[in-house]
Amino acid sequence: MSNDRHPRTQAIHAGTRRSQYGEVSEAIYLTQGFVYDSAEQAEARFEEIGPDEFIYARYGNPTVAMFEERIAALEGAEDAFATASGMAAVSGALISMLKAGDHVVSARALFGSCIYVLEEILGRYGVEVTFVDGSDLGAWEAAIRDNTRAVFFESVANPTLEVIDIEAVAKLAHAKGALVVVDNVFATPVFSRAISQGADVVVYSATKHIDGQGRALGGVVLGSRDFIRGTLEPYMKHTGGSMSPFTAWIMLKGLETIDLRVRAQAASAQTLAEALSGHDALARVIYPGLAAHPQHALVMDQMGAGGTVLSIDLKGGKAAAFAFLNALKVGIISNNLGDAKTILTHPATTTHQRLPQETKDLLGITPGLIRVSVGLEHVGDLKADLLQALDVAAQA
Ligand SMILES: *Cc1c(COP(=O)(O)O)cnc(C)c1O
Repeated sequence: MSNDRHPRTQAIHAGTRRSQYGEVSEAIYLTQGFVYDSAEQAEARFEEIGPDEFIYARYGNPTVAMFEERIAALEGAEDAFATASGMAAVSGALISMLKAGDHVVSARALFGSCIYVLEEILGRYGVEVTFVDGSDLGAWEAAIRDNTRAVFFESVANPTLEVIDIEAVAKLAHAKGALVVVDNVFATPVFSRAISQGADVVVYSATKHIDGQGRALGGVVLGSRDFIRGTLEPYMKHTGGSMSPFTAWIMLKGLETIDLRVRAQAASAQTLAEALSGHDALARVIYPGLAAHPQHALVMDQMGAGGTVLSIDLKGGKAAAFAFLNALKVGIISNNLGDAKTILTHPATTTHQRLPQETKDLLGITPGLIRVSVGLEHVGDLKADLLQALDVAAQA
């Protein structure tokens, strides 16, 4: 499909493969294997898998290929590989490119499982990891060295929503020959320009905005054709983290509406952040789309919007945060994000519970902090819900 179409058009048509029946909605090829016309054809295919040829679903599948092609077109990447989960994507991207003796520099503020991969797993295989404050360019510069093979960060960090300057970090990394791997979940494919800003590899948990309706786990790694087919694919197809065809179908259908959903969610997040700013019960309202956010100019330049998530910090600490969560009538207490439903999370006791107190302090994960993933409900209902729950919390 031609590359000059708008991403919103790509998200609906790119990658489509129709069977002889001419179906409108993409078919789910729920098969692990494929039949060969002859023994000679089987032999030839095992020698080299051509375009649109398949031998085993762990290596590739037509429904999965549709998803990979569609997200690559949307992201402006040469190629993509779909994975069983976001963590299969993160761990696959890193492990496939690293070897013993390599060095990695990573931002400290990360999704919990990413910390485990970087701290526990890579170290076991002789890869050294240095953690830095991701918003401090001087810290990146000081940490990146000649044997640094990769830098890794969330472009918008969970749950404190610091924004990392992709272009500036990429410049520092590329000067030393290191690859830039960006976990871009909070930016979403809708607001991402990460590849054009210097990212070599972009990773998504498709579980979040790509599905957008909380149905399935999935992930995807995007990058150059050389990296995806030459480095990542051999690792993924032999270690088993490939996406299932059924999940790929869910994610394909998710991509068709992602632009509308994410823009609506971000507009509501902006409205809610503005409405809650300065509220008596709150010590902080953190949202990159607010002019008061320390990196507001950077996020507008990098993404053009503040994203779908805001965080609020209740003055009354954990007791107030729990009273607030328990008083919600529309928002639900859970830990996914990017969903059609508004989901609220208390990071200190759930997603980030295991972090040592000093790391929580360093990252600003305070007892009163609540992450709000804004959904698709009417924004008036959401605002009323958050305000009434804050009233209840103030009386608790
Ligand atoms: C959810 C998430 C992941 C992991 O994705 P799964 O699909 O749960 O495996 C990784 N990074 C970020 C930023 C996430 O939000």
